[in-house]
Amino acid sequence: DFSLITDLVRAHAQERPEARAVVHKDRSLTYAQFDAEIDRVAATLQQAGLTVGDRIAVCAMSSIPYAVTFLGALRAGVVVTPLAPSSTREQLQGMVADSGAKIFFVDTPITEQLGPFDWFGGQLVALDDAAPGQPWSSWLAPEGARPAPVDIPPSAPFNIIYSSGTTGLPKGIVQSHRMRWAHVQRGAIFGYGPDAITIVSTPLYSNTTLVSFLPTLTLGGTVVLMEKFDAHGLLELAQRERVTHAMLVPVQYKRIMALPDFDSFDLSSFVMKFCTSAPFHADIKADVLKRWPGGLVEFYGMTEGGGGCSLAAHLFPDKLHTVGRPNEGHTILLLDENGNEVAPGEIGEIVGHSPTAVMNEYHNQPGKTRETEWIHPDGRRFIRTGDVGRFDEDGFLTLMDRKKDMIITGGFNVYPSDIEALLHTHPDLNDVAVVGVPSDAWGETPVAFVVAAPGKSVQGADIRAWANERLGKVQRIADVVVTDALPRSAIGKILKRELRDGWVAQQP
Ligand code: ATP
Ligand code: MG
Repeated sequence: DFSLITDLVRAHAQERPEARAVVHKDRSLTYAQFDAEIDRVAATLQQAGLTVGDRIAVCAMSSIPYAVTFLGALRAGVVVTPLAPSSTREQLQGMVADSGAKIFFVDTPITEQLGPFDWFGGQLVALDDAAPGQPWSSWLAPEGARPAPVDIPPSAPFNIIYSSGTTGLPKGIVQSHRMRWAHVQRGAIFGYGPDAITIVSTPLYSNTTLVSFLPTLTLGGTVVLMEKFDAHGLLELAQRERVTHAMLVPVQYKRIMALPDFDSFDLSSFVMKFCTSAPFHADIKADVLKRWPGGLVEFYGMTEGGGGCSLAAHLFPDKLHTVGRPNEGHTILLLDENGNEVAPGEIGEIVGHSPTAVMNEYHNQPGKTRETEWIHPDGRRFIRTGDVGRFDEDGFLTLMDRKKDMIITGGFNVYPSDIEALLHTHPDLNDVAVVGVPSDAWGETPVAFVVAAPGKSVQGADIRAWANERLGKVQRIADVVVTDALPRSAIGKILKRELRDGWVAQQP
């Protein structure tokens, strides 16, 4: 059982040609128009000599041409490499070179921020027609152009997504058409369908975005693109467009729920909201459940796939501190340091298996690919997540932390998330992060970075004293740094590596 995503879009264009596929500001495309534009992109790529397995790269803000280019490439079997607008120049250059992209699609905001792209040897195309490079609309083959049919096997690469680089350099994760099919197929259980209107307010490059963008389109719904998130703007747009679905990251929920006029918006059109990518605090989940109509599902997983969990928070309000249970067909095991399964209830490294929803490999990195695989004695291939967790007696997974973020102090394991959970209860704090820093006495020791709540001012020493009175002896914080904001990636992950390196550099 397998379909190509672009074939599913074509079927909707035939059945409901006038239904809206994509909306951005005052522009929209019907399914018939969307499908015809996808054909034009696919035909143009073929004319440029690209075939199945060749790569294009895109670094741009969300827009209709971006969406069309994404699906057009897929129809030609060309692999899309969508890149984070928050990348540095060096990261961007490295990722484009690593991908081997023959065409690089950009726009004006990205060019202003990260250009010029004179280092790129292939063809540069300006999606907004305005940035340096060939304007997209003149690059495109004429209206009515049709690509030659191509044979795309399920295992062929679909896209390469570079990991967030939260714990190291970004790795190019090669996802196949089969893996994407596995993701979109689950869409129906979350209520995606012809009536779905999905707001997409995270950048298109991330898996987080694609797991709601693609199911909406393949099930015949409407995608409403928002190229730059702001909490108030999202609610206004959602109310105006009668939005039914949204995938938001935790920091977006936090900003939205903190709006003083949240309750004045009519959000009754919502069917389902989603969250993934970073710790989502139970108190915010509870607040969303109480005040925002529709269900709430949290996903845990990684771009590499292998095993994922989901928590339907509206069905299990007493499990909000967990990330739920393994998805159907997914197996999740916890391993100890020696690679053996831990006893029930014990903490271990999370490894996950899925027969379909799993990456092919890390692009150009066979060594890294092997390191990340764990082969079960029965032969099944599991992916190591680098995350540490524990199952409760009902089979719900509690995520402790990333293994690399775990602090080993005086021989004890300390989970930054436990300390963060305490700091989050301090009424004067708005944002917190705890990292381990080198210590002569303990090997490593916890340091906290805190942001004061609006209108409050706090002293590091006071917060430290307050926290250390409440923490276990080995958890005690060595230093509290008060800062204006925590460094975050484009989809809201706290960049702990930057905090740690910055703190170490400040020491005499
Ligand atoms: P890199 O691999 O380059 O360090 P990354 O791991 O952040 O980057 P992603 O694949 O985008 O890249 O993110 C997967 C990770 O995000 C998971 O391993 C986990 O640590 C975290 N994560 C995902 N979902 C959740 C969730 N629901 N709650 C908490 N953390 C989550
Ligand atoms: Mg990762």
